[in-house]
Amino acid sequence: MRLLVTGAAGFLGSHLCDRLLALGHTVVGMDNLITGAPANLAHLEHHRGLQFVRHDVSTFIDVPGPVDGILHFASPASPIDYLEYPIPTLKVGALGTHNALGLAKAKGARFLLASTSEVYGDPLVHPQPESYWGNVNPVGPRGVYDEAKRFAEAMTMAYHRYHRLDTRIVRIFNTYGPRMRPRDGRVVSNFIVQALKGEPLTVYGDGSQTRSFCYVDDLIEGIVRLFERGDADPTNIGNPREFTVRQLADRVLALTGSRSPIVERPLPVDDPKVRQPDITRAKRLLGWEPQVPLEEGLRRTIAYFRDLVGR
Ligand code: UDP
Repeated sequence: MRLLVTGAAGFLGSHLCDRLLALGHTVVGMDNLITGAPANLAHLEHHRGLQFVRHDVSTFIDVPGPVDGILHFASPASPIDYLEYPIPTLKVGALGTHNALGLAKAKGARFLLASTSEVYGDPLVHPQPESYWGNVNPVGPRGVYDEAKRFAEAMTMAYHRYHRLDTRIVRIFNTYGPRMRPRDGRVVSNFIVQALKGEPLTVYGDGSQTRSFCYVDDLIEGIVRLFERGDADPTNIGNPREFTVRQLADRVLALTGSRSPIVERPLPVDDPKVRQPDITRAKRLLGWEPQVPLEEGLRRTIAYFRDLVGR
């Protein structure tokens, strides 16, 4: 198949390109590089199956030739990124998704939307099944991301229902692994880089808030299965093993052998107190569940950051 990946130079987009190329597809990778990095695709520079196009998908997308599938991953996705780029975040979720859906309709392509556990906001139901509608503050600082993705889901379902487009929605929970940026701002990359540099690990609040961390290879496997044989209803993909942020800090210190102290910093506004995917649907529909335990995934990620920061 010939597939378009938007956000191809991002953390997830680049891993997705790797997997799709390994499956024998040809890929058009698109990115405006505001948070993506060309280095993430550098190893594919001479791969004949990949064509890279620098373009902002919030403006009209032109892809000459056939397109069999579109995997729409373009968006700032780290809290510090969407706070720095609030309007591009809203635009790519809304206009970018509309353009990508329009292209899918014109080409008769299958469409997959990268959505997020942020659609559940600060959840009042735990763990979160897809049937939960969420608890989102539309006017808070995170609203630019949460509401853009909620709009993107609504738009995707409208194209599915009204235009009979073949669509998928994946709700991605916290994911980590090689190619996260060292200053990405997310908790796993922050803690690892801080530990390797001997700097204090910055726990926001008292660190009792929870997240459930999925290793990137597991996530990509789930997404590819969803794309190949899923259906239109939203599907959670994530690792249901839940940790407090403080437990994560302790694991990172133990695995790096770092003697960094842990310091507390103010909790960001509207920071969800708990998060854990209910993956019953993904198990049943796709026969998928994560394989890589946190310790193993952290080891691989620490090795990546050791090379990068030279410690
Ligand atoms: N966090 C933290 N220290 C950091 C970065 C993040 O304690 O240096 C916390 C953050 O407040 C949140 C959790 O870790 O409770 C996960 O944050 P992240 O930015 O990775 O993603 P989120 O799940 O909030 O989208």
